[in-house]
Amino acid sequence: MEKFNVAIVGAGPGGIFAAYELHKLAPSLSVVVIEKGKPLEKRKCPIDGVKIRSCINCPSCSIMNGFGGAGAFSDGKYNITNEFGGDLYQYVGAKQAIELMEYVDTINVENGGAASRLFANDRPDIAKLCLQNDLHLLKAKVRHLGTDINYVVLENLFNALKDHVKFI
Ligand SMILES: Cc1cc2nc3c(=O)[nH]c(=O)nc-3n(C[C@H](O)[C@H](O)[C@H](O)COP(=O)(O)OP(=O)(O)OC[C@H]3O[C@@H](n4cnc5c(N)ncnc54)[C@H](O)[C@@H]3O)c2cc1C
Repeated sequence: MEKFNVAIVGAGPGGIFAAYELHKLAPSLSVVVIEKGKPLEKRKCPIDGVKIRSCINCPSCSIMNGFGGAGAFSDGKYNITNEFGGDLYQYVGAKQAIELMEYVDTINVENGGAASRLFANDRPDIAKLCLQNDLHLLKAKVRHLGTDINYVVLENLFNALKDHVKFI
């Protein structure tokens, strides 16, 4: 039986980036990623709106499971902020959390996301308008890959890893 130094369960963003970092920082380690869903190119939901109009409860849901994880066919919005979406900053501090998110952004950009836009809502005028209306503007930068580029980035990450990391 083949043995590995590290086994990662799940090839969602968490698993993919864990494998990416392990390969980069400890290339001598053997790594396996075990994913219960299908490879990216085989992820197809059978709902076609004609023959199949609603969920038939496939044993492995191609929308939620498979290489790329739950958001593989999403709009691909990567929020760079501590103000919503998670609590990483509680573990590593606000500064390092932002640096890590920006680091992930550079990986996405290097792997096919360069043509996408990075938005920022650092607009004192809008923040003021919000306050005047009893609202609070949450500051964030957002990398909007979009569904098509998100898919390309996932393809490229798989291609960058597949000769170094075993995917099952
Ligand atoms: C429709 C949709 C749109 C989204 N859009 C965005 C967005 O634009 N921006 C954003 O930031 N977030 C978005 N999200 C949320 C984002 O997708 C998740 O936060 C992210 O996927 C979580 O990553 P993860 O690796 O922790 O888990 P997941 O992506 O859920 O990956 C876990 C993987 O593990 C596999 N797995 C689970 N159990 C096992 C097991 N026992 N054995 C083997 N494999 C297993 C699953 O099949 C899955 O592929 C969206 C989510 C959805 C559903």
